[in-house]
Amino acid sequence: MNVVISADMEGISGVTSPADVNPGSAGWNHFRKIMTADVNAAIAGFFEAGARNIVVNDSHANMENVVVDLLDPRATLISGRHKKHCMAEGVTKDTDALAFIGYHTAAGQQGIMSHTYSGDIYNAIWLNEEICSEGYINALYAAELGVPVVLISGDDLTIEDAKRYAPDAGYAVVKRCIDRFTAELIPPEKTFEIIKSAARDGLSRVRKPNLAKGPYTMRIEFAGANQVIAATHIPGVHQTGTREATYTFDTMEEVLRCFEAVTILGNNSRDAVYG
Ligand SMILES: [Zn+2]
Repeated sequence: MNVVISADMEGISGVTSPADVNPGSAGWNHFRKIMTADVNAAIAGFFEAGARNIVVNDSHANMENVVVDLLDPRATLISGRHKKHCMAEGVTKDTDALAFIGYHTAAGQQGIMSHTYSGDIYNAIWLNEEICSEGYINALYAAELGVPVVLISGDDLTIEDAKRYAPDAGYAVVKRCIDRFTAELIPPEKTFEIIKSAARDGLSRVRKPNLAKGPYTMRIEFAGANQVIAATHIPGVHQTGTREATYTFDTMEEVLRCFEAVTILGNNSRDAVYG
């Protein structure tokens, strides 16, 4: 079986605050090794359950976080940005299963460092009026290719979010959210086994996804009106409120790529003080 692992960082074992995931910082340099260990745990579990080929797609910030010389040599690594399919890069019609390691809850929700794509320009995002986490958007895109999500790791609230888009997956809770930057942590020595066994369980009961079909409407509430104006430079993205934009596409691939463009333009219009 061919498996893709999309690895984010906010939901990694031990991570609680922005200082842990900000590329280049001392905290990030420490936790990128733990991120690699969480990924290795998933790889170990997947091989035990019959995986033959595993690709890891680094999906956090600059997408150069996983430490390649600490990565299980049975896998390969997609490192760097930009990528056409962003956090879902590497998923094709030949992929049998997708995993989300180190994921987190959506913009505007409680959860460790909750956000969707951008940390501070989105108040909330809905996809067909469902709260849109990164897990949700990537799972719907993968479902379009016939690929199910078989494993999610993150805090307890991330796993609650995952149950609606991956009801048959293995779930690995590596920490309990107390507040957005505070968690009760399970040490990595223990989370390795938790992730490994969830990976093994999830892949052993893999089945085809059964998620919503298109068309898909994404509705975004931005933090500021300036970001709406920036986003509506894209044809098909319409202003539907002072701080709201909406767009509809028949396929999730178009939604995913439009959302990436909206995020780039929105971030570009952000002011360091006024947002
Ligand atoms: Zn993320």
